Amino acid sequence: MTATAGPDGVREAAAREVADGRYLAFDAFDDWGIHALATTRAAGTFSSAADEPVGAVLGRWAALQRHLDPSGAGRFASAHQVHGADVVDHLPGWTGWLRAPAADGHLAADRGTAMAVTVADCVPVYVAHRSGAAAMLHAGWRGTAAGILGVAVRRLAALRRPPAELRVLLGPAICGRCYEVSPDVYGQLTGRAVDRPTPVSLHAVLAGQARALGVRDVRATALCTRCDHARHYSHRAGDAGRQLGVLLAAVDG
Ligand SMILES: [Zn+2]
Repeated sequence: MTATAGPDGVREAAAREVADGRYLAFDAFDDWGIHALATTRAAGTFSSAADEPVGAVLGRWAALQRHLDPSGAGRFASAHQVHGADVVDHLPGWTGWLRAPAADGHLAADRGTAMAVTVADCVPVYVAHRSGAAAMLHAGWRGTAAGILGVAVRRLAALRRPPAELRVLLGPAICGRCYEVSPDVYGQLTGRAVDRPTPVSLHAVLAGQARALGVRDVRATALCTRCDHARHYSHRAGDAGRQLGVLLAAVDG
C-alpha cells in the first residue's frame, strides 16, 4: 500500500484489505476491540446521489452491516451530512439502521453502535477510548474549521473519557500535495494569511487540533483519495461516488 510521510509526530496506521478488498481495516484500535474501516472503490459508492440504482446502493449498506454484525442484532448509525460541526449522541436500546438528519458526527458512549460517515477527499476521523466510547466524524475543510473534532473530544471528556486517554485516527483523505485551497479557506484552517491559492493538509490541521485538545495518541493513514484514486473515490478527481468511514466498538471487545 502507498506510504508517504504524514504530519510530524503522527504514527502511521496500517491497513489490511478485508472482504475481497471491498473494505480496508485499520489496526489503530485493534487492541481495544474497536473496528475502524473504510470502504473502497471495489465496494462501490455509498452515496444515494450517485448515478446508480438506489437498490444497488442500499444493498452495499446492507452488506456492510452484515459484515460488521452477522447476527443482525446491532445498531448502525449514519446521517445526512451538511459540512457542519454537529455531533449526534447515540444511546443504546434500539436495533437496525438509523439515518439521522443534518449531522457530521456520531458519538456513542457504549459499545455496539456502528457509526458511518460518507467521504470522498474529506477526512473520516475516528476517535475512541479503550472503554469503547467512540466518535466518528466527517471533517472536510468546513467541519475542520468549525471545530467538529473539538466538539467530539469535549463531549467525550464530559463522559469522563479525557483527551489524554483517547486515540484519534485520520483516515483516507486528500493529501497536502493534492489539496490547494483559496487564501480565505487557508486562513480559516491555519490562522495564517496567504495571498494566493495554497496547498494544505487537512490531516496536519486535524492532528494539530487533536494535540491542542490534549490528545497524545494521533495516528493517520498515508492513503490519499486522490493519489490513490484507483482505490478511493475523490471529489476533486471528479468522482460522484462516496466511500464510508465506519467505527464500531464491538460488544465483546
Ligand atoms: Zn494526494
